Order: sequence, then structure tokens, then C-alpha cells
Amino acid sequence: MSTTHAYAVQSATSPFEPFRFDRREAGPNDVAIAIRYCGVCHSDLHTARSEWGGTRYPCVPGHEIVGEVTAVGDAVSRFKTGDLVGVGCMVDSCLTCDACRDGLEQYCEVGFTGTYNGPTQDTGDNTYGGYSDRIVVREEFVLRIRHGEERLAAVAPLLCAGITTWSPLRHWKVGPGKKVGIVGIGGLGHMGLKLADALGAHVVAFTTSRDKERDALALGADEVVVSRDAGAMEAHAGSFDFILNTVAAPHDLDAYLRLLKRDGTMTMVGVPAEPHPSPSIFNLVLKRRSLAGSLIGGIEETQEMLDFCAEHDIVSDIEMIAMRDIEEAYGRMLKSDVKYRFVIDIATIDEKG
Ligand code: NAP
Ligand code: ZN
Repeated sequence: MSTTHAYAVQSATSPFEPFRFDRREAGPNDVAIAIRYCGVCHSDLHTARSEWGGTRYPCVPGHEIVGEVTAVGDAVSRFKTGDLVGVGCMVDSCLTCDACRDGLEQYCEVGFTGTYNGPTQDTGDNTYGGYSDRIVVREEFVLRIRHGEERLAAVAPLLCAGITTWSPLRHWKVGPGKKVGIVGIGGLGHMGLKLADALGAHVVAFTTSRDKERDALALGADEVVVSRDAGAMEAHAGSFDFILNTVAAPHDLDAYLRLLKRDGTMTMVGVPAEPHPSPSIFNLVLKRRSLAGSLIGGIEETQEMLDFCAEHDIVSDIEMIAMRDIEEAYGRMLKSDVKYRFVIDIATIDEKG
């Protein structure tokens, strides 16, 4: 066992505080990682505050993990000490069901083990995530990072925000000749703009924040629509092949379904704590439109996305924070004031924690 320094919440209403626990030593199939940076996902906030219910405490969030390998088990063949690696939202799954065999571990029929808020497959223990200085993960769930080391902090958000937008963009075949909308320009949305642009689509950003207009163009949008402007929305009616909706709060889905053309799809990746008002079925039947959902992405496609980003020099736009500033960062996230992902410098975790 090795002592791990972390930050945890002890209940849905208590603030983050230093927390110390033991992680297992690397077993034969494990990779031990010294965590350097961890991105801050809105799912961390939903979970820490038990907005989705079912949070187990103490809760150590964080599933956008990057760091350096410090030890590997005897049976590990793909990694060695000193390698730069990442860990995303999953640390285990059954690896034998149809979904796992298809490389879609996020849809594991037994249920994957989340990087935080477990439970583990063997003992059912709670898992603790990346707001901590080390982690031990089985080899199959460790990703290789090919970006230069100087970009490591900005690579961290690719492990969730990157793959959660990449997977649906690829599944719904976004590319040249396709008109694609990205709704909500936060952590996920800004990666959606970069990736859809790199895949060659015509990209339209939808934002409630007028001050993000210029940024959205720089991030890869060809056009920006302030979604509170009904006239600007109407100008795009019936014109989209695909819309990716990343918004973390309930809102009017009809406003976007109307923008899809015949056979178009809007895929939801944002998971608000409260349900959206039900959309009008007329908007679906009149043009055979689809409303869909998508969960993160499989390990193989996460590696594909990381390699694509390394090749195209794509990283996240980040604001680095110290661990002790996490509450303030959550407060800003709730005000849509993230430009465009907070990343924790893990070196700032208090040794006394
Ligand atoms: P985020 O950084 O807070 O971004 C969300 C964005 O949504 C905001 O920046 C804002 O963009 C927009 N927004 C917020 N409140 C709104 C409102 N009331 N009406 C309209 N727009 C609003 O969050 P994130 O980390 O990108 O995560 C987004 C959601 O995806 C969360 O619910 C998270 O849990 C979920 N998620 C899902 C998966 C999955 O696998 N499906 C994976 C990761 C995260 P503008 O300022 O541009 O309007
Ligand atoms: Zn996430």
C-alpha cells in the first residue's frame, strides 16, 4: 500500500478538504502513475454534490488524468517507467461481454468501473479519482500520450471532454459536406468545436454567452449563434445534419430539433441534474429526425482521438488552478465562466493532506 494525497468531499454539502488514503501497489497487470494534472469536468461537480444521486463518500473526483508511469507489473507489456500516460473515465470493465469485445467498454453489460465513485469489480469498494497525486490502473485502461511533455496539462481534458465529443462526431460520421452544431461552449463544447472543425465539417457554435462569440470562431466555428436570439436561430431552421448538445442544464430542446434537416440527429451528451422539458414529438415525426444520447467513448477510440489530436496539434484551452481553488472553480463553472477547462496542478496538493 502507498499513501496517496488527495482532496475529497465528505458529503453533498461539505467543501473539498485534504484527504489521505492508501492505493494498492501495482499488481502484475497494473500501471502505477504519478499524476501531474487533472482536468475539472462538470460531471465531477454533479457527483461531488450528488446531483445525480448515488454518490459514495468520501468522494475524490477527477477523470481527466495525465501523468508519468512510476512502476509496472510483471505482465505489463505496453508501458514502462517514465512513459507519459492518461486515464479517463473508466478503470475497469468485464472485457468479455459483446460491448467490451466491440471496444465499447463504456457500455459494458456488467457495468464499467468509473475512475471515481466505483464500485470496483472485485470487492465493490469505492474508487478514488484524479484529484490525487497517484493512481494504479490495469494496463488495458491506460492511454498513451504522444503530445510533447510541455503540452501535458492541456492534454488532460482530452481524456473526457475530448473523447465524449469525438465518439459521437465519429459515430454520426461528421466530416466534409456536413453542417454540424455544437451547443454549449464549455469544456465539452470547446473540444467539440475543435474536433468537428478538424474533421472537416461546417461548424456552428450555439452559446448563451455573447462574450464567447469571438472565442468560438477561434476555436473552430465557422458561424456563431447566440441562442437567446430567436431570429438568429430561425435563420438556421431545417439545415443541420447533426447537432451535439453539451449543455449541463435543462432547456428547450425543440429550439434545436427544429434546426435539423430531414433525417438529422441531435445527440445529447450533457446530463443535467433535472430532466429537460419533453420535446414536441411533431418536431421528430415531421422530418424523421432523431434525438439520441452518447456516453464518453471506448478505450480504442480514446487512443485514436489522442493520436489524432497529437497529429493535428489539438489540445484543450485551459486555465490552470491550484487544488485549494477547486470550490471557486466549481462556482465559476456554474456561471458558465470557464475558458474553457480548469486543470488542477497536482503539485499543489498539500503534502499534509
Ligand atoms: P461546462 O464546462 O460547465 O459547460 C457547459 C456549457 O453549457 C456552459 O459553458 C454553457 O455554455 C452551457 N450552459 C450552461 N448552463 C446553461 C443553461 N442554463 N442554458 C443553456 N446553456 C447552458 O460543462 P462540461 O464539463 O462541458 O459538461 C457538460 C455536461 O456534459 C455536464 O452535464 C456533464 O456532466 C456532461 N458530461 C457527459 C458525458 C457523457 O459521457 N455523456 C461526459 C462528460 C460530461 P454557453 O456559455 O456557451 O451557453
Ligand atoms: Zn467528464
